[in-house]
Amino acid sequence: MTDLDEDLIIDKVWEFGTKNILDDNQYTIDKKNLRSLRKKAADLGLTRIEIPKNQGGLGFDFKTRSKIFGILSTFDFGFSMSIVNTHSAALRLSQSASPQIIDYFFPKIHEGGESACTAMSEKEFGSDFFSIETTAVKHKNDWRINGQKEWIVNARHAKLAIVFVQTKSAGDKSGIAGFAVDLNDENAKRFEINSSYSQNSMGTGGFVLKNYVAKSDDMILPPGVAYKAILNEINLARVYVGSMCCHMLQHLLEITKDYGNKRMSFGKKLFTHQSWRFAIADAEVDLTAAKLMVEEAEKQVAEQKDSQLSAAKAKIFATNVCQKHFPILLHKMGAAGFHNKYPFSQYIPAVQMASLMDGSTEMLLERISKRS
Ligand SMILES: Cc1cc2nc3c(=O)[nH]c(=O)nc-3n(C[C@H](O)[C@H](O)[C@H](O)COP(=O)(O)OP(=O)(O)OC[C@H]3O[C@@H](n4cnc5c(N)ncnc54)[C@H](O)[C@@H]3O)c2cc1C
Repeated sequence: MTDLDEDLIIDKVWEFGTKNILDDNQYTIDKKNLRSLRKKAADLGLTRIEIPKNQGGLGFDFKTRSKIFGILSTFDFGFSMSIVNTHSAALRLSQSASPQIIDYFFPKIHEGGESACTAMSEKEFGSDFFSIETTAVKHKNDWRINGQKEWIVNARHAKLAIVFVQTKSAGDKSGIAGFAVDLNDENAKRFEINSSYSQNSMGTGGFVLKNYVAKSDDMILPPGVAYKAILNEINLARVYVGSMCCHMLQHLLEITKDYGNKRMSFGKKLFTHQSWRFAIADAEVDLTAAKLMVEEAEKQVAEQKDSQLSAAKAKIFATNVCQKHFPILLHKMGAAGFHNKYPFSQYIPAVQMASLMDGSTEMLLERISKRS
């Protein structure tokens, strides 16, 4: 799809979610064929939003990506995370990989509906990323990669993984490198991670690499470059996760206000009870502040300014206000809030995950405390 302007693609994302993710306004994504849903998202261009036009992308800026995945998260946070992670891995290839690697993976991702992931976390190392134990050891002209990654969006089905490894001694950040890895290789074994909150649409899982042979070209981020590149990428992710939180909060506010204007109690609409509507106003205030912080971070990213602090602050604030207001708004809906036609029960665990992904709240507070 070509020649989309920003307004048009945004309209199309709303249409995509309404037509393909909701069923009669019910949040039942787990009943869908997720592979075919990913293909439809790719057909719409959602894996190519920020990829330059001369590489077959749509050439939009970061703000558009942040907005699009914010909107998509109102339909399903997991699915939005799945597609944005495929997008991030494809964007990484477009910036750092050889034409051969791009030509191999791009058609599979952008036309075939295959997914992709970025894998840093391991069983023993999440926050403490620089201690990762997955290694890449030089063997003649190739590299041998050994290790296991887990809690990775899309890992249960990804074709492409951008895998972060240690090439020197454990803990040495200058030894961290990034490889483009084909998870269909016989020396790669994927697995699923499930929990009581569905991980299906997010494709959560992991993989084991046992003597995986990577060619020298597959090292798309060499030691010394990789850790800076990934910190920058995570920084961007913090901003769009903040955007997702704002979009979800806005959606719940709309649902709750609408309900409060219809539901009667003691002969009056819920909205006319002052203590009921003050909860709404309180959430509105926090949403306004969160949006401003996300917009500020988006602007700094788009202007290529140092956005480390603004991104960290925006993600902390946005996740905090959602953790506070989602359960309160659910309570204001009464029992009705638990119906499948409302997404409260999906959003509450979603924001718990958001507060860990791409740097937990504590890790971000640490950064702010040292840099502010
Ligand atoms: C649904 C989901 C999807 C994910 N997707 C990806 C992905 O695609 N790619 C990827 O690489 N990773 C992914 N992750 C992993 C994520 O990055 C980690 O969960 C995160 O970095 C935290 O690491 P951990 O879970 O190992 O927690 P730990 O590091 O064990 O920390 C546990 C708790 O202690 C806190 N803590 C840790 N150290 C300190 C400290 N020094 N001071 C104070 N508090 C501390 C943490 O903030 C956290 O609250 C995903 C996680 C989830 C839940």
